[in-house]
Amino acid sequence: LQQELQALRTLPAVTPDGVKVEVAANIGRSKDALPAVEAGANGVGLFRTEFLFLDRTTPPSEEEQFEAYSTVLKAFAGKTVIVRTLDIGGDKSIPYLSLEHEDNPFLGLRGIRLCLAEKHQPLFRTQVRALLRAAEHNPASLWIMYPMICDSRELRQARAFVAETEAMLLAEGILKNPVSNKIRQGIMIETPAAALLVDVLSKDADFFSIGTNDLSQYTLASDRMNANLVELHRPFHPAVMRSIAQIITTAHKYNRWIGMCGEMAGNPRACKFLLGVGLDEFSMEVNSLNAVKQIIRSTTRGEAQEIVQRVLAAESADEIEQILL
Ligand code: PEP
Ligand code: MG
Repeated sequence: LQQELQALRTLPAVTPDGVKVEVAANIGRSKDALPAVEAGANGVGLFRTEFLFLDRTTPPSEEEQFEAYSTVLKAFAGKTVIVRTLDIGGDKSIPYLSLEHEDNPFLGLRGIRLCLAEKHQPLFRTQVRALLRAAEHNPASLWIMYPMICDSRELRQARAFVAETEAMLLAEGILKNPVSNKIRQGIMIETPAAALLVDVLSKDADFFSIGTNDLSQYTLASDRMNANLVELHRPFHPAVMRSIAQIITTAHKYNRWIGMCGEMAGNPRACKFLLGVGLDEFSMEVNSLNAVKQIIRSTTRGEAQEIVQRVLAAESADEIEQILL
């Protein structure tokens, strides 16, 4: 079996009746890039850049970030690399940021909210400068993704910030040519607000990726780490499954590419459902790639769609777990 899974590495993620999807890697460090290529990832679906900022006393310099982003882009030469901008908040203690105490840090200044707050903009500026510079040789490979977006206003602010940063780099002569017109800019769908606004957000977002970890935490109003809430916080809660189906269907209605980089994308049990609703990309920890690919390669569109019908009609997480055995 191990050998069979190994052989899958180089085979495409395509169903027996020809539905082709992408399987991509979630990474946290630039050194994770080459092993992900070797494991057969078609690209990076989520580069969690916050790891560059944690466990240190000063923020990473523009040069250090430039190196990290360049390394990943180089490892995946010509393939898509989705880099998520810094997603941190008051739950982390980061000495050089002097974050204010918040009673509800997961409902506070987190992700894009923190990056766009005036006080923290210099931090975001450095990250965006490094990203634009790293993209110079192959801008079409870099897709920038904003976390924790709730509405178009935030997304437009983020895009304006990128445009302004690019103008600075061009004026300084550091960038020779504009790159932002070739870089795709998209968002995580991980708040219920974004889930309900996919049609509106598609006007300003080039692509979407569903973050099921936060989407379920916020949809179920239950802390994803709270051990007392495991009965409620089930991976296949019907509210979450319906939300996911609606997000994907709406994104496609508005001609937007949509991936998933939350844990559900790497769960083999969820695979047929996600395939059936038409997910374009599954991004996960590298050691899940082969198992997910194997299911994709043995599931027909019809079988997947039948699972979707049954899941969407189910009334409880128990019932859905039975369907997705
Ligand atoms: C998510 O919320 O599903 C996600 C992928 O982001 P993170 O787990 O880093 O919050
Ligand atoms: Mg998240």
